[in-house]
Amino acid sequence: MSYDPFDWTDDEARRRADAGLVRTLRPRAAGTELLDLASNDYLGLSRDPEVTAAAAEAVRTWGAGATGSRLVTGSTALHAELERELAAFCGFEAALVFSSGYAANLAVLTALTGAGSLIVSDAGNHASIVDGCRLSRADTAVVPHADPEAARKALQSHDGRALAVTDSVFSVDGDAAPLPGLADVCRDTGAALVVDDAHGLGVLGEGGRGALAAAGLAGGEGVVVTLTLSKSLGSQGGAVLGPARVIRHLVNTARTFIFDTGLAPAAVGAALGALRLLRREPGRAARAVAVAAELHGRLTAAGLTAAPPDAAVVSVRAPSAESAVRWAADCRAAGLAVGCFRPPSVPDGISRLRLTARADLTRSQIEKAVDTVLATAPRPVG
Ligand code: PMP
Repeated sequence: MSYDPFDWTDDEARRRADAGLVRTLRPRAAGTELLDLASNDYLGLSRDPEVTAAAAEAVRTWGAGATGSRLVTGSTALHAELERELAAFCGFEAALVFSSGYAANLAVLTALTGAGSLIVSDAGNHASIVDGCRLSRADTAVVPHADPEAARKALQSHDGRALAVTDSVFSVDGDAAPLPGLADVCRDTGAALVVDDAHGLGVLGEGGRGALAAAGLAGGEGVVVTLTLSKSLGSQGGAVLGPARVIRHLVNTARTFIFDTGLAPAAVGAALGALRLLRREPGRAARAVAVAAELHGRLTAAGLTAAPPDAAVVSVRAPSAESAVRWAADCRAAGLAVGCFRPPSVPDGISRLRLTARADLTRSQIEKAVDTVLATAPRPVG
C-alpha cells in the first residue's frame, strides 16, 4: 500500500465541492482593489498615513519582531503605552495586549474559569469564544441568542465560579447584545461578565469608546472586555481590559499570553497611532454608524430585507445559499467587495451578504455600493 496519510482530505474536498462550499483565498493585488465593503476597517485607518507612519516609526525604534514572549523580551515601552492609553480611552483600570483578539478570548475564558466553573455563552458568539469555552474545561451552557433571562436561569442553576460571555456586536448580523440586561443578571447571580467588543470599539460609545461605554458599564467591577486591534484601529492584535487584579491574573496564568511571542512593534505602533487619531477626531465613530444607517435605509427602501444596524455592519438577506454566493460574485465582478455568509458559517435558510460601512466612504462610493448591490440582487429578494 502506498504512503498517503492525507488521502481523506481529497474525499472531504470532493464533498465540499458537491455541496458548493469550497473556500478559496483571493489575494488582493496592489492597484487593482475593489470598493471595499467586506473588510472590518470600519474607520478606514489601516492605510491612514498617520497610522502607517506610526507603524514604520515603531519598526525603526523597536525592530520588526517583538523578539520573545511578553514575560521574557517581548514587552516594550510601546506595549505599555498602548495598554495605558487603551484602558484610559475605554474607561477601564488596566489593559493587556495580545497577539490577536482570538488569543485574548482564549486567555480570558481559560484563565478565569476551569473544571467546575460555568460559562454561559450566547448561541451567536464568535468562534474564538466557542474555542475558549472548549479549552477552558468549564461546563458551558450555550443559551439562546440575546436572552438575558436564559442566561439568568443557567447561572442560577450553578453553584461556584461562573461567567457570562457575549459579543457586544454580533459579527455576522451586526446586532447588539443586551448588555444592561446581562450586567444585571451577572450582578444578581455573582457571575463575571465578559464582553467581546471587537465590533464595538471605535464605532459605539462616545467617540468610539466602545459598547461598554455606550451602555454605561465601562470600568464595572465585574466586567472584562476583549478587543481586537485589527478592525476599527486598522492594525493587528488583541487586548483585554478590566480590573487591575484580573490583568495581573492573566499575566501570571493565561497560556496564550505567557507562551506566545509578544505583539509585533509595528502593530503596537499602528494601534497607538490609530487610537490617538480617533481621540483627536471622535466624529469618525459616528460617521461609520451613519453610513451603515444610510446603506440600510437605501437598500430596504428598494425592497431588500435587512435588520436596522446597531453598529457598522449591515446584513442583507439572500433567498438561498446559492443566490448569496452568486450575488457576492456579481458584486465582485462589478467592482464591489462584500462579505457572503452561508452554511456552515450560518444556519440553513439565512444566507446573507454582509456589508461593512466605513467612516471614510465618499458620497460617490456609497452611491456605487448601493447601485451595485441593487443591480445584482437576485429576484425575488427577501
Ligand atoms: N471576536 C470577534 C467578534 C471577531 O469578529 C474577531 C475577528 N474576526 C475576533 C474576535 C478575533 O480577533 P482577531 O482577528 O484579532 O484574532
